[in-house]
Amino acid sequence: MMKRLFDGMPSRVSRPKILVVDDQAVNIHVIHEIFKQDLDVLMATTGRTAIDLCQSQAPDLVILDVMMPDMNGYDVCRALKADPTTRDIPIIFLTSLSEEQDEIFGFELGAVDFINKPISPIVVKSRVGTHLRLKLQTDLLRSIGLTDGMTGIANRRRFDDKLDQQWRICEQDQKPLSLIILDVDFFKPYNDHYGHLMGDECLKSIAQALEQKIRRPNDLVARYGGEEFACILPTTDSDGALNRALELLRSVRDLRLEHLTSEVSSEVTISAGVATLIPNHSNSLLGLIGLADKALYLAKEGGRDRVQVADCQP
Ligand code: GH3
Ligand code: MG
Ligand code: MG
Repeated sequence: MMKRLFDGMPSRVSRPKILVVDDQAVNIHVIHEIFKQDLDVLMATTGRTAIDLCQSQAPDLVILDVMMPDMNGYDVCRALKADPTTRDIPIIFLTSLSEEQDEIFGFELGAVDFINKPISPIVVKSRVGTHLRLKLQTDLLRSIGLTDGMTGIANRRRFDDKLDQQWRICEQDQKPLSLIILDVDFFKPYNDHYGHLMGDECLKSIAQALEQKIRRPNDLVARYGGEEFACILPTTDSDGALNRALELLRSVRDLRLEHLTSEVSSEVTISAGVATLIPNHSNSLLGLIGLADKALYLAKEGGRDRVQVADCQP
């Protein structure tokens, strides 16, 4: 019996979507009919539109005609593989060419499979199903690898990747990059008094509260270590970052989590160190982290439940 398309497919909040690219609408129509029940099907009749759709809609898979006027399928494939935002989208070529040389050429460009015209619905469904399943599994593994298991927010690895990426972008654009490091006040006595499980619950609530304060797509809140969190704010100057840090502190205070063994409050509070740099040849990413860390230490020394901004003069 024919395996159903979604057998063994990782489930996801949004429906998987594929992009079908063919200069002949009739071919697109055939494929749309095959998948319309299970998937969102985007369509393009030119290579240029296909590339734009890949960049803006991030489909999970592309079925790509080889022979098209203007930009052919090979050119589209080459362009998608050269762009880091689209290079992981699997591409299946749809072709009436059946020479081994053509297939080898396509595989060398990075395609995952070939489907021959005229289109056989069963073959198309099986091949697309296989590659879609692999794609969703890969996405799932990647997202697990970048998420902190306990709190559900970004983990240290995701933080490192993002900071590295944003450092390079801000260096290129000569824009300030701000970093906030936050640490829960008197958390050891919290654990001692309320127990480790309550401690975990407390960290989960704090993580959620911090994450809800994220506004821009390139901002990130991550669990940095045990009871430490970090917030990356690209294109944000020192004043902006100070305001965001004060907001983060307030969001934790607003949780009103009882903490009777804290020496600064009867509720859970957090301290923050803020640093801002415009990346250039005389500073470094590690320097930025060091500055935020030092500011956090001063916030603790100064009494906790406060924000300290690092002196970042070049
Ligand atoms: P300070 O105000 O100076 O930050 O004091 P503190 O007690 O928070 O600092 P310290 O670094 O001494 O203690 C941090 C505590 O956080 C100790 C550790 O057991 C606890 N902790 C770290 N990770 C976790 C976790 O995942 N769950 C729980 N429940 N506790 C954790
Ligand atoms: Mg700590
Ligand atoms: Mg602490």
